[in-house]
Amino acid sequence: MKNFNALIERLNFKKIIAIYIALAVITGLLSVGFLSYMFKDKLIFAYNLNNLSERIEKGKLGIDSVKSDIISLARQSSDIVDILILDKDNRVLFSAKQSEFGNGEFKLENERGERGGYLTYFKNPDVSFRLMDNDDLILNAVFTGHEKEISHHHKDENFFRNNFMSKRIYLLSYAVNRNSGDKIYFISDINKIPEGEVYLDMAGSVGMTFVVLYWILLVLWVYQDAMKSKIDAVLWGSIALFTNLAGLFVYLIYKQSNKVCYKCNTIQNRNNIFCRYCGTKIGNACKSCSNIVNEEDKFCSSCGNKISA
Ligand SMILES: [Zn+2]
Ligand SMILES: [Zn+2]
Repeated sequence: MKNFNALIERLNFKKIIAIYIALAVITGLLSVGFLSYMFKDKLIFAYNLNNLSERIEKGKLGIDSVKSDIISLARQSSDIVDILILDKDNRVLFSAKQSEFGNGEFKLENERGERGGYLTYFKNPDVSFRLMDNDDLILNAVFTGHEKEISHHHKDENFFRNNFMSKRIYLLSYAVNRNSGDKIYFISDINKIPEGEVYLDMAGSVGMTFVVLYWILLVLWVYQDAMKSKIDAVLWGSIALFTNLAGLFVYLIYKQSNKVCYKCNTIQNRNNIFCRYCGTKIGNACKSCSNIVNEEDKFCSSCGNKISA
């Protein structure tokens, strides 16, 4: 314990905190950079897809004028099964990849007993579409496994178990042109980014390491400060260990409500006139009424008597 205390006493927290912040910022930037690089294709694609959806929804451009954009977007990602333009009666006007969905009508029906946002292709009951936002359409496959994720979203697990093996499931997001009622459907396969989850886990672990470090540093700081203040360092250190910031605030309020010797840092009763540890004069008593006054006070707060230094 003595060795431990001597070690803690030597810690320079100003330096440690500066190093900690610098390391946290550098590691944070590296992690974001790394993830952006690994997922860059998906991110760029998501940006382009959102852009296109917005332009179509605002209705500033007719769907005809975005056809070339749609074709180039469909080429950007192998996950995209097709991008369709439909009129308000669900007739396919245009198919970017000439898939099986690109002919005649494209209608979707609610699956019986399903409410998880799954719709069934009207020509083939074994083909389901999961309705989602653009962002989810792109990133969904990064975060979650295929079967696990779909099973989770199916309310009826028996239905899922009995039907999954024979089913094909696609992701679907859409945008509607408000003027014409024309729709654009983005149909995507569920393909995980290889190692995508591993990268996210790695970034998560790095983040957790910094949280743990912060927690330990806060406890050590409270421990050191309590030690310098000659109060129970183990007690206050433990409070900080189990309650973190709450413990820190309680500690600071406790210090604030007591007197600290300016010479040796010992914390003590507000009414002490001499330090209980080093004997330094840290308080004054009024000569007229014996009221305890602060060292720096010029007049007694009780009787107004001038205090001589
Ligand atoms: Zn003292
Ligand atoms: Zn007085």
